[in-house]
Amino acid sequence: MTIAVSSQSTVADRLGRPLRDLRISVTDRCNWRCPYCMPAEVFGERYEFLPRPEILTFEETERLARIFAGLGVRKLRITGGEPLVRTQLPRLIELLARIPAIEDVALTTNGYLLGGMANSLKGAGLNRVTVHLDSLEEETFKKMSGRPYGPQKTLEGIEAAARAGLTPVKVNCVVQRGMNDGQLVDMARRFKGTGHVLRFIEFMDVGTRNAWNMKQVVPAKEIFEKINAEFPIEPADREYRGEVAERYRYKDGSGEIGIIASVSNPFCGDCTRARLTTDGRLVTCLFAAGGKDLKTPLRAGATDGDLSDMITGVWSKRSDRYSEQRAANTGADGSVKLPRRKLEMYQLGG
Ligand code: SAM
Ligand code: SF4
Ligand code: SF4
Repeated sequence: MTIAVSSQSTVADRLGRPLRDLRISVTDRCNWRCPYCMPAEVFGERYEFLPRPEILTFEETERLARIFAGLGVRKLRITGGEPLVRTQLPRLIELLARIPAIEDVALTTNGYLLGGMANSLKGAGLNRVTVHLDSLEEETFKKMSGRPYGPQKTLEGIEAAARAGLTPVKVNCVVQRGMNDGQLVDMARRFKGTGHVLRFIEFMDVGTRNAWNMKQVVPAKEIFEKINAEFPIEPADREYRGEVAERYRYKDGSGEIGIIASVSNPFCGDCTRARLTTDGRLVTCLFAAGGKDLKTPLRAGATDGDLSDMITGVWSKRSDRYSEQRAANTGADGSVKLPRRKLEMYQLGG
């Protein structure tokens, strides 16, 4: 599927996809150790995260975001690692929210620190949050977050975000077979009628560290059937082109859920997202092996025009469609025959 490029955008990739969204990873650190993203055995006390000089400053990030906005980006999403562990994050939000062409600034977080920060984030100009919550059940939560506490603080974070007006709050639940797939109805029950939008995400083969296998993926169809059997749902229209979640509304009018079928029904044809890593690399796909270093030229005195040309050069050559290729390269045993050298999820922010 190709996407109409509006007169405002100035760059489209080889498959005709404009550059519309930018995900900015503001830190490679995290206060959780989800085994599918930053397993504790690998990211222990001695793990060396990026040293401070390698990390883009707020001013550098804002400058790049402004240049991206000049090329058609309208939505920014702040992510990580865990973005709320980045010191003084509201100051960055304030800088980004002031960029005239930017229509929406959102943030993805595990919610642990959100309770204490929701008001200052909203005050700085943040529009919305997506909160990662894989289970309400204490033991499953501990396994999936790699931490010795339950979901309470994340649930408090969700409520604080809603009170602050960071709405609608989206709640992302990554579904992993054998881990939390028996708890999907409980999750739906918890958020039904609250105004928060629960979204189930198929477990993906991002990065190289989570020993992913197709057998751990619970396909969207099965997720739909589980929820529908308990709480009847029906498809709702997508809100905008390029929206990744398939939307369903409860037939009793008590809200909606989303299912992100990145594995069983890939949406590369509508993918208008670029990613900026914490150390200033431009990455054009969640499954890319690397990215274009923008920090070095930026620090060496490149002008806005030079940087804009570099980004245009990368985007106009883009032909990424990994998830579609994965679908075509999966064997009967669930193994995938595609290159394994990939960046990690905590570097790209989802
Ligand atoms: N720390 C924040 C958080 O957890 O929301 C932001 C970064 S995290 C990498 C972004 C999202 O990616 C989270 O919702 C997380 O559950 C999701 N994620 C990480 N690894 C994943 C995988 N293998 N498959 C699907 N989603 C994944
Ligand atoms: Fe941290 Fe988010 Fe990765 Fe979990 S998914 S380890 S919370 S960055
Ligand atoms: Fe976009 Fe790459 Fe995901 Fe396809 S696989 S939707 S191109 S990020």
